[in-house]
Amino acid sequence: MKKIAILGSTGSIGTQTLEIVRTNGDIKVTALSAGKNIGLLEKQIREFRPKLAAVWSEELAGELRERVRDLDVEIACGMDGLLAVAAEQESEILVTAIVGMIGILPTIEAIRAGKDIALANKETLVTAGHIIMPLAREHHVSILPVDSEHSAIFQSLQGGQEKALHKILLTASGGPFRGKKREELENIQVEDALKHPNWEMGRKITIDSSTMVNKGLEVIEAKWLFGVTVDQIQVVVQPQSIIHSMVEYEDGAVIAQMGTPDMKLPIQYALYYPERRFLPGDRLDFSTLSQITFEQPDMETFYGLKLAFEAGRKGGSLPTVLNAANERAVALFLDRKIRYLEIPEIIASCMEAHRIIEDPGVDEILKTEQETYEFIKNRW
Ligand code: NDP
Repeated sequence: MKKIAILGSTGSIGTQTLEIVRTNGDIKVTALSAGKNIGLLEKQIREFRPKLAAVWSEELAGELRERVRDLDVEIACGMDGLLAVAAEQESEILVTAIVGMIGILPTIEAIRAGKDIALANKETLVTAGHIIMPLAREHHVSILPVDSEHSAIFQSLQGGQEKALHKILLTASGGPFRGKKREELENIQVEDALKHPNWEMGRKITIDSSTMVNKGLEVIEAKWLFGVTVDQIQVVVQPQSIIHSMVEYEDGAVIAQMGTPDMKLPIQYALYYPERRFLPGDRLDFSTLSQITFEQPDMETFYGLKLAFEAGRKGGSLPTVLNAANERAVALFLDRKIRYLEIPEIIASCMEAHRIIEDPGVDEILKTEQETYEFIKNRW
């Protein structure tokens, strides 16, 4: 029986991971972690019976301990709790479904403990890919992509011809504002940006999809996962989200992975890799599917994507600034404290003000994150 631990089990990816566990019935969950949603975490503990569960605050950990005192489960909290879940002795795979750079240290802990990583937490690779990928190689652990585009690339690379990879074609839906120009985005409200045309996701990533910053983060994620340069990655807008991404080989052959938009496919593929299993759900029907269309991304309107290409190209600590500035700007927008178009403006100002540290260590990455937050706090 496969054994897994999950960081962020109460979120969108976390709950879908548990749905797969429930449907398949042959995976043991050894540890779970959540931020604040102890109501759902308690239900998950009762259903999946992990040995260990963690929440962020000490106060909520105390409350949860009371609630589950009839069960044999240890409740931990804070970063120590996340690290304990990451390195839980019995688990073989850590699913990193937590949101934000808080995922860096637990991911490193899990790799050092020899766990494979089913990676959804893209922020970890965006900011610390230069640390994570060599560490994974050193400890002989696999980084299995959960992000649908990266899973598609990974699936298209099966067959052992990675060396002949010429280019990655990273597809994008274009989000809810595709085709609009800057002036039409002036009065975008939180509710408008939270309506994604094809995917159901957590709030932060849904806003990131609307600004196309998510695609930018994915470009940097792909650079690390597949060992290519940013210039080998081309973003292709494919509004129907049927092609989840493609690779072009040296001989010009293009291999794509297609399917209905459902995150359970990439999650299940990562959990059972290299095995493919039955997955209930809609199938592509080529008798009714009338078109798959393609466009170039509009990097002037959605210039967060352009900034991400710049950060990925320059590297060092700049992707951390991009990520942290975006995270804070999105939070401010969700709190209705800034306008929608200020999101890329804030990212650009932070990147401009930053002096790049080449090859930053984890401490420098986390310090850069805090400095970026401070910079924003003093100005917005
Ligand atoms: P959600 O916001 O839905 O879930 C985030 C999870 O992280 C929740 O379980 C939350 O707990 C937990 N969490 C947040 N802060 C803390 C903290 N301080 N300590 C412990 N746990 C915490 O996010 P998503 O599932 O949408 O995204 C998760 C990651 O996966 C992100 O990196 C995202 O970019 C990536 N991703 C998501 C996709 C999607 O379809 N949703 C697709 C591809 C990648 P709680 O709710 O209890 O506070």
